[in-house]
Amino acid sequence: EHITVQELANRMAERAADIVKFLMQQGQMVRANDTLDADDAELIVEEFGHTVKRVSEADVETGFISSEDPEESKQPRAPVVAVMGHVDHGKTSLLDALRSTDVAAGEAGGITQHIGAYQVQLKSGDKITFLDTPGHAAFSAMRSRGAQATDIVILVVAADDGVMPQTIEAINHAKASGVPIIVAVNKVDKPDANPDKVLQQLLQYEIVVEQMGGEVQAIPVSALKKQGLEELAEAITLQSEILELKANPDRSAEGVVIESQVDKGRGPVATVLVKRGTLSRGQIVVAGSQWGKVRALVNERGQQMKDAGPSLPAEILGLDGAPEPGELFAVVESESRARELVDYRQRQRRDKSSGMSSGGASLEQMMAKLKDNEVQELALVVKADVQGSAEAISSSLEKLGNEEVRARVIHAAPGGVSESDVLLAKTSGSPIFAFNVRANKQARELAEAEGVEIRYYSVIYDVLDDVKNTMEGLLAPEK
Ligand code: GDP
Repeated sequence: EHITVQELANRMAERAADIVKFLMQQGQMVRANDTLDADDAELIVEEFGHTVKRVSEADVETGFISSEDPEESKQPRAPVVAVMGHVDHGKTSLLDALRSTDVAAGEAGGITQHIGAYQVQLKSGDKITFLDTPGHAAFSAMRSRGAQATDIVILVVAADDGVMPQTIEAINHAKASGVPIIVAVNKVDKPDANPDKVLQQLLQYEIVVEQMGGEVQAIPVSALKKQGLEELAEAITLQSEILELKANPDRSAEGVVIESQVDKGRGPVATVLVKRGTLSRGQIVVAGSQWGKVRALVNERGQQMKDAGPSLPAEILGLDGAPEPGELFAVVESESRARELVDYRQRQRRDKSSGMSSGGASLEQMMAKLKDNEVQELALVVKADVQGSAEAISSSLEKLGNEEVRARVIHAAPGGVSESDVLLAKTSGSPIFAFNVRANKQARELAEAEGVEIRYYSVIYDVLDDVKNTMEGLLAPEK
């Protein structure tokens, strides 16, 4: 797959003419609209003193080559903050409380809708973007796709409960991704609160807070009583100054999908976070394997925006489907380019789930093949009513099994079962698990014709049980 000289130039913030000149010196005659293959592109990127960031193999091949922007093009941007911690320690309450620190709320109208992220402006004028999707699932989904959206993790630990299993999980996630932690010791208003004990406990996990002579900031807060919020915001600002967060706003936009859904009235809606560049209404965007022309950009106050720069979350309308959280998006120059990218990605997906292109696709057939040792992986397609349940089901399914057999979800998305799902399932020989959704008529007919099994569920445990039982049957010693 290819990238045009012009697009490569845009991505490097260089002039296309300079690339043409360079190639001419190499004995290659090209014009700005000509395409280059990935190897050539990479060579040029390096030759121009930029670094090639391999977002993923497919992205490189499709031209999603990210190069560093020149230092002088970058401007300070707001930090993107995720709140993590054990259940009931106050993540949601803290996110709600932090909204109230927004001084822009008065004039512009308060935050009216949940879009997966919001930005507040502090008294100092500094801005902070909070990812409003508590839980580690979204965070790890983004990480697993190589899209690091988070700059700082706020680790919420309840002062009356101390470090708990999900606290440790959160610490591990943050550490693995190299994101700095700020500890918010919450619920200090409670009579049985013991903040010092929390700080002491954290030592075991190599989190040495300032109060203990270390470098990690720890702020006592009460989300309920709205205490310590300014101090927490200051800590975030200080940390982001240390990180020197910057991005080039004057280039075509790139970023990451935070959340998505198919809205009855508005169609597919995705909340994206711009990482660099500026996204504008009317531009053509590819997000994962979906694409579309940005029909509207809406912020968390329900207001229409003309454009969105770095660290600014926005809902985009106009995509042809709901992309998965954690997938990258980028503006492309034309519809044909968008189609090319999306086709490529869909093909890749199918190829990846290869090896089983013949025969039908039911759970039984798949098991028979597994028994014959043809495949060790149980490929599955999951469709669900909302993104959250699609994700919950996939991650639970992927935890099943052992070294001999495991489930691999090749596609999980919100929305009813469509023909394209059936085709994907057919090529990968996998059944479709439909959770609280139905298949439309065309999809049902196609499934029947192709021998693809669609299994309907309304209880998550039933999905897991079915797969588990089948796997166990498979693993049981023969005769
Ligand atoms: P999450 O599961 O981490 O999102 O936790 P929630 O925000 O839902 O809070 C769990 C419970 O703790 C709720 O009943 C909150 O009202 C309560 N809570 C949260 N923050 C505080 C706090 O600062 N002080 C007290 N006393 N209760 C709190």
